[in-house]
Amino acid sequence: MKYENIRNQVLEAILQAVDMGLIHGTSGNIAMKDDKDPVVAITPSGISYAHMTADQIAIVDLKTGEWLDGPFKPSSEVPMHLAVMNARPDVTATVHTHGMFATIAAMEKFGELKAVTPPQAEFVPVGIVPFTMPGSNEVAEKVVDALGENGKAVVIKNHGMMCCGKNMKAAMSAAVYLEEMAQTNYYAKLLGVFEPMPEEAVAKMQALIAADQAV
Ligand SMILES: [Zn+2]
Repeated sequence: MKYENIRNQVLEAILQAVDMGLIHGTSGNIAMKDDKDPVVAITPSGISYAHMTADQIAIVDLKTGEWLDGPFKPSSEVPMHLAVMNARPDVTATVHTHGMFATIAAMEKFGELKAVTPPQAEFVPVGIVPFTMPGSNEVAEKVVDALGENGKAVVIKNHGMMCCGKNMKAAMSAAVYLEEMAQTNYYAKLLGVFEPMPEEAVAKMQALIAADQAV
């Protein structure tokens, strides 16, 4: 099997995401760039992830999105994953879900997502991507804009969210904490007790994380 390493990492991540309830059925997709060749492993379209095997993960060209290997058509969200990887050389892995709380948090009147616990601080500010048709180049461009140079997570209106990281562990961690942050914000706002972490504490956490990651 070609590109066994990235295929295995995508498979492991998608099974984990299903297990954690971040992804239901065939919704959402995960991608990982190869460290030598300009190719990306990505989950296929419309196939249940529960019994998937590594050879069923699709391989596409990093620049053109051309389907190079694998028995099933790559996810229709290929443009979004590739656009982020091509715009951000620091990104090797991307996670896209239709997580319920991230989707609610993308709605205009929800207000900006705020970190409530220390691990969430790494992922703010969370950009909001305006609605455009899924799978389009337009949504891909808007996700890249909203992520900017350093962003790790954005929510997409009437669709879900997109996270990225320097490796699969980092991208998955962004996906977990974004959904957790959206959920905490949602319930705290619903109860009328919302108290985000103080801005200075968020800035301190971010400085600590950046120093740690630079080592
Ligand atoms: Zn989607």
